[in-house]
Amino acid sequence: MDDSLTISPPKERCASCFTEIVTDDVFCTNCGYPLKGTEDEQRKFIGENEVTGIYYKEYYDKVRKAGNSLYYLAGFALLGAIISFFMKQDDPNVLAYTLPSLILAVLFLVLGGYSRKKPLACIVSGLVLYLIVQILLIIDNPVNIASGIIIKIVIIGYLINGIKSALELEKFKKEHNLKD
Ligand SMILES: [Zn+2]
Repeated sequence: MDDSLTISPPKERCASCFTEIVTDDVFCTNCGYPLKGTEDEQRKFIGENEVTGIYYKEYYDKVRKAGNSLYYLAGFALLGAIISFFMKQDDPNVLAYTLPSLILAVLFLVLGGYSRKKPLACIVSGLVLYLIVQILLIIDNPVNIASGIIIKIVIIGYLINGIKSALELEKFKKEHNLKD
């Protein structure tokens, strides 16, 4: 599900701020990096923005990792759908057991995909979605609260950290007048 698995050609990124760029652009639409400038102009720009670039990349990497955890959740949900399908395949209500996990897998996949563009909204949505499912499972059967509790805490912690990084990234962008 990562960039390496997509069929489209690899997207070019700005050497300064790592935003995806269109090859025809003369300047990066995000940070103004001279994409078609001379080597000197480009080096001068990077030098002036070196500190900004390092911090930006640090936040960006954290947010990216949190976005990837949405893909892992999609994988878990898909696995759950497959397991329940094989366990209940003789049951006439097999779809009632399989479909919710399948829908969940698709939702997490979509959120993971959009998290590159709207990290904060997608990671918050992913966390809310995950918590709703967990609450429904506990209502359905209170014993569920204990099952896989460590994995649940790790997932929730990871998503909360992602939200923190995404908030820092937003703040950083605002402070440095960087657009999305
Ligand atoms: Zn840029």
